[in-house]
Amino acid sequence: MMFIDPHTHMISRTTNDYEAMAKSGVVALIEPAFWIGQPRTYVGTYIDYLSTIVGWERFRAGQFGIRHYCTIGLNSKEANNQELAEGVMEILPRFALKDGVVAIGEIGYDEQTELEDRYFRLQLDLAKELELPVMIHTPHRDKKRGTTRSMDVIEEHGLPPTQVVIDHNNEETVREVLDRGYWAAFSIYPSTKMGNERMVEIVRQYGPERVIVDSACDWGISEPLGVAKTAKLALQRGVPEEHVRLICYQNALDAYGQSGQMREEDWLSPPAIDQRTLYEGNSILRGGREPVVEEPARTMEELVIQ
Ligand SMILES: [Zn+2]
Repeated sequence: MMFIDPHTHMISRTTNDYEAMAKSGVVALIEPAFWIGQPRTYVGTYIDYLSTIVGWERFRAGQFGIRHYCTIGLNSKEANNQELAEGVMEILPRFALKDGVVAIGEIGYDEQTELEDRYFRLQLDLAKELELPVMIHTPHRDKKRGTTRSMDVIEEHGLPPTQVVIDHNNEETVREVLDRGYWAAFSIYPSTKMGNERMVEIVRQYGPERVIVDSACDWGISEPLGVAKTAKLALQRGVPEEHVRLICYQNALDAYGQSGQMREEDWLSPPAIDQRTLYEGNSILRGGREPVVEEPARTMEELVIQ
Protein backbone atom coordinates (compact mmCIF):
# COMPACT_ATOMS: atom_id res chain seq x y z
CA MET A 1 0.00 0.00 0.00
CA MET A 2 1.13 3.55 -0.73
CA PHE A 3 0.83 6.17 2.01
CA ILE A 4 1.00 9.95 2.21
CA ASP A 5 1.94 11.51 5.54
CA PRO A 6 0.51 15.02 5.17
CA HIS A 7 1.97 16.48 8.38
CA THR A 8 5.64 15.90 9.23
CA HIS A 9 8.41 18.18 10.49
CA MET A 10 11.24 16.30 8.81
CA ILE A 11 13.72 19.10 9.49
CA SER A 12 13.87 17.64 13.04
CA ARG A 13 14.05 13.99 11.99
CA THR A 14 16.92 11.73 11.05
CA THR A 15 17.85 9.82 7.91
CA ASN A 16 16.81 6.62 9.77
CA ASP A 17 13.30 8.05 9.90
CA TYR A 18 13.32 8.71 6.15
CA GLU A 19 14.50 5.16 5.50
CA ALA A 20 11.87 3.66 7.80
CA MET A 21 9.09 5.79 6.34
CA ALA A 22 10.01 4.84 2.77
CA LYS A 23 10.10 1.18 3.78
CA SER A 24 6.68 1.47 5.45
CA GLY A 25 5.15 2.67 2.17
CA VAL A 26 5.27 6.47 2.50
CA VAL A 27 5.65 7.87 -1.02
CA ALA A 28 5.00 11.54 -0.26
CA LEU A 29 4.87 13.82 2.74
CA ILE A 30 4.02 17.40 3.61
CA GLU A 31 6.15 19.53 5.90
CA PRO A 32 4.15 22.42 7.37
CA ALA A 33 6.03 25.54 8.39
CA PHE A 34 5.86 25.67 12.16
CA TRP A 35 7.46 26.66 15.42
CA ILE A 36 10.84 24.97 15.88
CA GLY A 37 10.89 24.77 19.68
CA GLN A 38 13.31 27.67 20.10
CA PRO A 39 11.56 30.99 19.40
CA ARG A 40 12.92 32.79 16.33
CA THR A 41 13.86 36.38 16.98
CA TYR A 42 14.63 37.73 13.49
CA VAL A 43 12.84 37.57 10.18
CA GLY A 44 16.19 36.42 8.73
CA THR A 45 16.06 33.12 10.61
CA TYR A 46 12.54 32.67 9.27
CA ILE A 47 13.74 33.21 5.72
CA ASP A 48 16.43 30.57 6.20
CA TYR A 49 13.95 28.14 7.76
CA LEU A 50 11.45 28.52 4.92
CA SER A 51 14.28 28.20 2.40
CA THR A 52 15.31 24.95 4.09
CA ILE A 53 11.87 23.36 3.89
CA VAL A 54 11.38 24.31 0.23
CA GLY A 55 14.98 23.45 -0.67
CA TRP A 56 17.35 21.22 1.26
CA GLU A 57 14.66 19.15 3.00
CA ARG A 58 12.98 18.48 -0.33
CA PHE A 59 16.31 17.28 -1.71
CA ARG A 60 16.99 15.14 1.38
CA ALA A 61 13.60 13.37 1.14
CA GLY A 62 14.22 12.70 -2.55
CA GLN A 63 17.46 10.95 -1.68
CA PHE A 64 15.34 8.33 0.10
CA GLY A 65 12.75 8.11 -2.68
CA ILE A 66 10.10 10.21 -0.91
CA ARG A 67 8.47 13.24 -2.55
CA HIS A 68 8.46 16.24 -0.22
CA TYR A 69 5.95 19.11 -0.22
CA CYS A 70 5.47 21.89 2.28
CA THR A 71 3.12 24.55 3.55
CA ILE A 72 4.13 28.15 4.22
CA GLY A 73 2.91 30.31 7.07
CA LEU A 74 3.49 32.22 10.27
CA ASN A 75 2.61 29.95 13.19
CA SER A 76 0.30 31.09 15.96
CA LYS A 77 2.92 31.01 18.73
CA GLU A 78 5.29 33.38 16.92
CA ALA A 79 2.39 35.58 15.79
CA ASN A 80 2.62 36.93 19.34
CA ASN A 81 5.96 38.60 18.53
CA GLN A 82 4.58 41.48 16.52
CA GLU A 83 7.83 42.79 15.13
CA LEU A 84 8.78 39.34 13.85
CA ALA A 85 5.25 38.70 12.59
CA GLU A 86 5.18 41.90 10.52
CA GLY A 87 8.46 40.93 8.85
CA VAL A 88 7.30 37.40 8.16
CA MET A 89 4.04 38.59 6.59
CA GLU A 90 6.08 40.56 4.08
CA ILE A 91 8.08 37.56 2.90
CA LEU A 92 5.29 34.94 2.89
CA PRO A 93 3.85 35.68 -0.57
CA ARG A 94 7.13 35.00 -2.34
CA PHE A 95 7.63 31.69 -0.54
CA ALA A 96 4.01 30.62 -1.01
CA LEU A 97 4.47 30.59 -4.79
CA LYS A 98 7.50 28.29 -4.83
CA ASP A 99 7.48 24.77 -6.27
CA GLY A 100 6.09 22.13 -3.96
CA VAL A 101 4.14 24.52 -1.71
CA VAL A 102 0.68 22.96 -1.31
CA ALA A 103 -0.98 25.22 1.28
CA ILE A 104 -0.80 28.17 3.63
CA GLY A 105 -0.21 26.66 7.08
CA GLU A 106 -0.07 25.54 9.66
CA ILE A 107 -1.92 28.57 10.96
CA GLY A 108 -4.64 29.16 13.54
CA TYR A 109 -4.71 29.69 17.29
CA ASP A 110 -2.44 28.76 20.17
CA GLU A 111 -3.50 30.82 23.20
CA GLN A 112 -6.19 32.59 21.15
CA THR A 113 -4.71 36.07 21.67
CA GLU A 114 -5.55 39.21 19.71
CA LEU A 115 -2.28 39.08 17.77
CA GLU A 116 -2.86 35.44 16.82
CA ASP A 117 -6.27 36.44 15.54
CA ARG A 118 -4.85 39.31 13.52
CA TYR A 119 -2.22 37.23 11.68
CA PHE A 120 -4.56 34.28 11.24
CA ARG A 121 -6.98 36.54 9.38
CA LEU A 122 -4.26 38.13 7.24
CA GLN A 123 -3.03 34.69 6.19
CA LEU A 124 -6.54 33.52 5.34
CA ASP A 125 -6.77 36.50 3.01
CA LEU A 126 -3.43 35.51 1.48
CA ALA A 127 -4.65 31.94 0.89
CA LYS A 128 -7.79 33.29 -0.71
CA GLU A 129 -5.83 35.60 -2.97
CA LEU A 130 -3.41 32.86 -4.04
CA GLU A 131 -6.17 30.22 -4.23
CA LEU A 132 -4.20 27.87 -2.02
CA PRO A 133 -5.55 25.29 0.43
CA VAL A 134 -5.12 26.06 4.16
CA MET A 135 -3.84 23.81 6.94
CA ILE A 136 -5.24 24.71 10.35
CA HIS A 137 -3.41 23.96 13.59
CA THR A 138 -6.02 23.66 16.35
CA PRO A 139 -4.91 24.63 19.88
CA HIS A 140 -3.97 22.06 22.52
CA ARG A 141 -5.65 24.05 25.28
CA ASP A 142 -9.32 24.90 24.97
CA LYS A 143 -9.38 22.88 21.76
CA LYS A 144 -13.13 22.70 21.22
CA ARG A 145 -13.65 26.45 21.43
CA GLY A 146 -10.51 27.16 19.39
CA THR A 147 -11.63 24.82 16.63
CA THR A 148 -15.12 26.30 16.39
CA ARG A 149 -13.67 29.80 16.40
CA SER A 150 -11.19 28.89 13.62
CA MET A 151 -14.02 27.70 11.38
CA ASP A 152 -16.14 30.78 12.15
CA VAL A 153 -13.27 33.05 11.11
CA ILE A 154 -12.54 31.00 7.97
CA GLU A 155 -16.15 31.36 6.90
CA GLU A 156 -16.13 35.08 7.69
CA HIS A 157 -13.23 35.40 5.23
CA GLY A 158 -15.17 33.60 2.53
CA LEU A 159 -12.99 30.51 2.15
CA PRO A 160 -14.86 27.34 1.16
CA PRO A 161 -14.50 24.52 3.74
CA THR A 162 -13.40 22.16 0.96
CA GLN A 163 -10.21 24.24 0.63
CA VAL A 164 -9.34 23.87 4.34
CA VAL A 165 -7.89 21.00 6.38
CA ILE A 166 -8.55 21.25 10.12
CA ASP A 167 -5.75 19.31 11.85
CA HIS A 168 -5.15 17.74 15.28
CA ASN A 169 -8.79 16.75 15.73
CA ASN A 170 -10.07 14.45 18.45
CA GLU A 171 -13.36 12.87 19.52
CA GLU A 172 -14.57 16.24 20.80
CA THR A 173 -14.12 18.16 17.54
CA VAL A 174 -14.60 15.65 14.72
CA ARG A 175 -18.36 15.84 14.34
CA GLU A 176 -18.58 19.60 13.97
CA VAL A 177 -15.61 19.74 11.57
CA LEU A 178 -17.10 17.11 9.26
CA ASP A 179 -20.64 18.49 9.53
CA ARG A 180 -19.41 21.91 8.46
CA GLY A 181 -17.82 20.39 5.35
CA TYR A 182 -14.08 20.60 6.19
CA TRP A 183 -11.36 17.99 5.80
CA ALA A 184 -10.70 16.54 9.27
CA ALA A 185 -7.10 15.51 9.92
CA PHE A 186 -5.88 13.56 12.96
CA SER A 187 -2.32 13.52 14.23
CA ILE A 188 -1.30 10.15 15.62
CA TYR A 189 0.93 11.65 18.27
CA PRO A 190 1.73 9.57 21.35
CA SER A 191 0.25 10.68 24.70
CA THR A 192 -0.95 14.16 23.81
CA LYS A 193 -3.07 14.18 20.66
CA MET A 194 -4.43 10.84 19.48
CA GLY A 195 -3.50 7.16 19.64
CA ASN A 196 -4.20 4.89 16.69
CA GLU A 197 -6.70 2.64 18.48
CA ARG A 198 -8.84 5.71 19.08
CA MET A 199 -8.27 6.67 15.44
CA VAL A 200 -9.58 3.33 14.21
CA GLU A 201 -12.71 3.81 16.33
CA ILE A 202 -13.26 7.26 14.82
CA VAL A 203 -13.06 5.83 11.29
CA ARG A 204 -15.52 3.11 12.21
CA GLN A 205 -17.92 5.66 13.63
CA TYR A 206 -17.63 8.48 11.07
CA GLY A 207 -16.48 6.63 7.96
CA PRO A 208 -13.53 7.60 5.74
CA GLU A 209 -14.97 10.57 3.88
CA ARG A 210 -12.80 13.72 4.34
CA VAL A 211 -10.86 12.02 7.17
CA ILE A 212 -7.04 12.26 6.98
CA VAL A 213 -4.40 10.55 9.13
CA ASP A 214 -0.97 12.09 9.76
CA SER A 215 1.92 11.61 12.17
CA ALA A 216 2.79 15.25 12.97
CA CYS A 217 6.24 13.89 13.81
CA ASP A 218 8.53 16.68 14.97
CA TRP A 219 11.25 17.38 17.54
CA GLY A 220 9.11 15.97 20.37
CA ILE A 221 8.43 12.33 21.26
CA SER A 222 6.52 11.36 18.15
CA GLU A 223 6.05 8.51 15.67
CA PRO A 224 7.13 8.97 12.04
CA LEU A 225 5.48 5.62 11.21
CA GLY A 226 2.12 6.83 12.56
CA VAL A 227 0.34 6.59 9.20
CA ALA A 228 1.59 3.10 8.26
CA LYS A 229 0.96 1.75 11.76
CA THR A 230 -2.57 3.15 11.80
CA ALA A 231 -3.27 1.62 8.38
CA LYS A 232 -2.05 -1.76 9.56
CA LEU A 233 -4.04 -1.63 12.78
CA ALA A 234 -7.19 -0.51 10.96
CA LEU A 235 -6.92 -3.44 8.51
CA GLN A 236 -6.32 -5.82 11.39
CA ARG A 237 -9.45 -4.54 13.12
CA GLY A 238 -11.57 -5.08 10.02
CA VAL A 239 -11.73 -1.59 8.45
CA PRO A 240 -12.19 -2.13 4.68
CA GLU A 241 -9.03 -1.67 2.62
CA GLU A 242 -10.65 1.04 0.50
CA HIS A 243 -11.41 3.09 3.64
CA VAL A 244 -7.80 2.75 4.76
CA ARG A 245 -6.63 3.89 1.33
CA LEU A 246 -8.82 6.98 1.60
CA ILE A 247 -7.69 8.07 5.09
CA CYS A 248 -4.00 7.24 4.62
CA TYR A 249 -3.51 8.32 1.01
CA GLN A 250 -6.26 9.55 -1.28
CA ASN A 251 -7.96 12.19 0.90
CA ALA A 252 -4.67 13.99 1.56
CA LEU A 253 -3.95 13.97 -2.16
CA ASP A 254 -7.42 15.32 -3.00
CA ALA A 255 -7.22 18.06 -0.35
CA TYR A 256 -3.69 19.32 -1.03
CA GLY A 257 -3.76 18.44 -4.73
CA GLN A 258 -6.09 21.44 -5.09
CA SER A 259 -2.90 23.53 -5.04
CA GLY A 260 -1.92 22.09 -8.43
CA GLN A 261 1.48 21.29 -6.88
CA MET A 262 0.98 17.68 -5.83
CA ARG A 263 0.24 14.97 -8.41
CA GLU A 264 0.29 11.20 -8.30
CA GLU A 265 2.72 11.13 -11.27
CA ASP A 266 5.31 12.74 -8.96
CA TRP A 267 5.80 9.42 -7.17
CA LEU A 268 4.44 6.95 -9.72
CA SER A 269 7.20 7.90 -12.15
CA PRO A 270 9.77 9.52 -9.85
CA PRO A 271 13.29 10.49 -10.78
CA ALA A 272 15.74 7.69 -9.98
CA ILE A 273 17.50 7.94 -6.61
CA ASP A 274 21.11 8.97 -6.98
CA GLN A 275 22.76 9.67 -3.64
CA ARG A 276 25.84 11.00 -5.41
CA THR A 277 23.81 14.12 -6.18
CA LEU A 278 24.70 17.31 -4.35
CA TYR A 279 22.50 20.18 -3.16
CA GLU A 280 24.46 23.44 -3.17
CA GLY A 281 27.59 21.33 -2.74
CA ASN A 282 26.18 19.21 0.10
CA SER A 283 25.49 15.50 0.15
CA ILE A 284 23.55 13.34 2.61
CA LEU A 285 26.44 10.87 2.49
CA ARG A 286 29.29 10.69 4.96
CA GLY A 287 32.73 9.13 4.47
CA GLY A 288 32.88 5.48 3.44
CA ARG A 289 29.16 5.13 2.84
CA GLU A 290 28.13 3.53 -0.47
CA PRO A 291 25.66 5.78 -2.30
CA VAL A 292 22.35 4.30 -3.42
CA VAL A 293 22.13 4.74 -7.18
CA GLU A 294 19.04 3.54 -9.01
CA GLU A 295 19.18 2.91 -12.73
CA PRO A 296 16.79 5.32 -14.41
CA ALA A 297 13.95 3.70 -16.31
CA ARG A 298 14.44 3.36 -20.07
CA THR A 299 12.90 6.26 -21.98
CA MET A 300 12.18 6.89 -25.64
CA GLU A 301 14.16 10.11 -25.46
CA GLU A 302 17.46 8.22 -25.71
CA LEU A 303 17.26 7.36 -29.38
CA VAL A 304 20.93 6.60 -29.93
CA ILE A 305 21.76 2.89 -29.54
CA GLN A 306 25.41 2.14 -28.94
ZN1 LIG B 1 2.90 20.49 13.08
